[in-house]
Amino acid sequence: MTNSRKTPIGISKEEFKRMGHQLIDTIAGFIDTIDKRPVTTGETPGQLQSIIGISSLPENGISAEEILSKTSHLVFNHSLLNGHPKFLGYITSSPAPIGALADLLAATVNPNVGAQILSPIATEIEKQTVKWLAEFIGVSPGYGGILVSGGNMANFTAFLAARTAKAPGNIKEDGIPGASPKLTIYCSKATHTWIEKAAILFGHGSKSIRWIQTDAANRMDNEVLERTIKNDLEKGYQPFIVVGTAGDVSTGVVDDLSGIATICKTYDLWFHIDGAYGIPAAVIPEQKMLFEGVGEADSIALDPHKWLYSPLEAGCTLVKNPKHLTDTYSSHPAYYNFSSNEESLVQNYYEYGLQNSRGFRALKVWVTLQQVGRRGYIKMISEDIELSKLFFELANSHPELEAITQNLSITTLRYVPVDIAQNDENRETYLNTLNEALLNKLQKGGEVFLSNAIVKEKYCLRGCIVNFRTSKKDIEEIIKIIAREGKIMHRKLQEKQAI
Ligand SMILES: *Cc1c(COP(=O)(O)O)cnc(C)c1O
Repeated sequence: MTNSRKTPIGISKEEFKRMGHQLIDTIAGFIDTIDKRPVTTGETPGQLQSIIGISSLPENGISAEEILSKTSHLVFNHSLLNGHPKFLGYITSSPAPIGALADLLAATVNPNVGAQILSPIATEIEKQTVKWLAEFIGVSPGYGGILVSGGNMANFTAFLAARTAKAPGNIKEDGIPGASPKLTIYCSKATHTWIEKAAILFGHGSKSIRWIQTDAANRMDNEVLERTIKNDLEKGYQPFIVVGTAGDVSTGVVDDLSGIATICKTYDLWFHIDGAYGIPAAVIPEQKMLFEGVGEADSIALDPHKWLYSPLEAGCTLVKNPKHLTDTYSSHPAYYNFSSNEESLVQNYYEYGLQNSRGFRALKVWVTLQQVGRRGYIKMISEDIELSKLFFELANSHPELEAITQNLSITTLRYVPVDIAQNDENRETYLNTLNEALLNKLQKGGEVFLSNAIVKEKYCLRGCIVNFRTSKKDIEEIIKIIAREGKIMHRKLQEKQAI
């Protein structure tokens, strides 16, 4: 009896094997046919609700085998497939298949990676993953950090550490000083929305953000940055953090990071890099120049679930001096001792970030990094960039397409009908309407999935390739799809106008 408590949740070894094998078979079949499926079915929430059925929570449980089999069909047939070769939307990658298996393994053992004693090997694996990520992007091995759920959390985790380090007085005990000096934040206009969320949620208010204008290349204008900081200091503000972006979310532009680093040194400010999307490209020798200054950052956010192709969710905060994390998040000030004694090797991750209980998200990143290796990543990331350039060139040479920008693996373009006059005063307004309608149509059509970007007031279609399944042929076909659908949408809008 001791070992045989009967519960509705346990599964016998035989049953587990049968169900597991069956599930793996279905998953393998799914992965193998992903390119033949629609990217999305375009079903409405109402349609989906009727598919899953509106009923109450079951009173009595049903067979696990039946649930799993039904559920796999449900999610395979009614999802948007970001593993599809023609999925180029937002910045969500095709997930590494080994990551799916690692998630199964992680959930099976279920270590709580909040404390070392609860997760002996998992903590070591996370430490090594963080080290490898630092090594990957080419910063000193002294950087330490933590894995979090994604880019937003990685940036928040760093933001709060910056504040503890740079705010006057003892913010941990006294909180944010009510009136002056008011803490101010600096970033370019192209910065991702996380910064606004951080300023609002952490009590600074959105007015504490100085949105620095960008130059012709869409990089933060560092002269304006320095002028703004000086101006604020004269007025009695207290600047504390500058955010540089390494691959902006819309068009993939990398700020002049070493220029920002110099300004931060001059004014004793925290230099944070948001590299959620773009920083993995620093691994490519030919791209290295673009990322000069990365090693001077006080903190860096990166997202293994973007360009390292990890399944969601995996973000990472790296901090040059990891003591800033424990200064912020630890509740045992006597604890940290990063010198070389044996005790310092114990690392309780709850003291490095906002979470307490933590899952083993490091495992899927760790196994993928090993499976692929540095060389493998150089190859895949370079190919993504090459495909993005091809996308731009094909758009550029197409009579009905206008290529707009190309940086890292992001291309923006728009459909421009041949019969629209250059001097038509409604030209730009019409093209914006047309391209927005075109994007909406494409997103529901299931052939290709693109997102949008507004570039110098032009509404653009945007393709971001963080997808190891996308090929040259896919890009050629996507160009044809856009031109075909663009033409149809143009005709439709013209007819509407004519009525
Ligand atoms: C994607 C992205 C974020 C947000 O990351 P999530 O993983 O979606 O939370 C922040 N900054 C940049 C530059 C990004 O590309």
